[in-house]
Amino acid sequence: MYTLEPIAIVESPYKEKFAIPRQPGLAPSAEGRVVLQGAFNNPQCLQGLEQFSHLWLQFIFHQTQAQGWKPLIRPPRLGGNSKVGVFASRSTFRPNALGLSVVRLQRVECLNGQWQLVISGFDLLDQTPVVDIKPYLHYSDAVHDSQSGFAQLPPELMPVTFAPEVEDFFARQPTFAQLVREVLAQDPRPAYRHGHSDNRTYGVRLSDYNINWIVRNEVAVVTAVSDC
Ligand code: SAM
Repeated sequence: MYTLEPIAIVESPYKEKFAIPRQPGLAPSAEGRVVLQGAFNNPQCLQGLEQFSHLWLQFIFHQTQAQGWKPLIRPPRLGGNSKVGVFASRSTFRPNALGLSVVRLQRVECLNGQWQLVISGFDLLDQTPVVDIKPYLHYSDAVHDSQSGFAQLPPELMPVTFAPEVEDFFARQPTFAQLVREVLAQDPRPAYRHGHSDNRTYGVRLSDYNINWIVRNEVAVVTAVSDC
């Protein structure tokens, strides 16, 4: 047996699992922080890291860890109908509950003695424990002739609009509006609803706000926004 010690904690606008993009890079506007902890809050550990544009983060799927793992998974990309083996998936329900994401490194900062990495384009829940950080190496990690099975292409994007009631709010917050667009364009609804309009109003907490939307004629329409 081996023991893992978190080295950092993620601060993320994704406050709940629902609607987090299923892989990094799908919502490039998501900005957050990897805050170094304890003995790892040491600038020596980060020396040279600022020369890299992207990082690998290894982390614990802490919110689903207690639910254990399953040998077969229904990937949302297959509409939730077909099963593949856990090791042919990126499911959170896996042995050891370890996740792996490549993220953009914006900058390294120290605020009040606290070292942190400002990152973007990630798929991580707020408060996710990070167990390792490594630089992304283009010459080795980018595999140009790779095959990606059932996930060869990125997911199709859903158009996103803002209802008149919320237009002013989002006009005043263009960066947040872009994040909402990128997140809802992934159509976070359950896979069996994809390709269909429905009568539900969906809601998610994103950053400091609750966002509501509906799906009409294959368009996500943001209908309400309120403070958390
Ligand atoms: N890129 C990583 C990987 O391949 O290991 C994660 C892929 S996993 C399919 C991405 C999903 O994990 C997100 O959409 C979110 O629902 C979930 N997630 C992110 N952080 C989590 C956490 N700390 N605990 C549980 N689930 C998490």
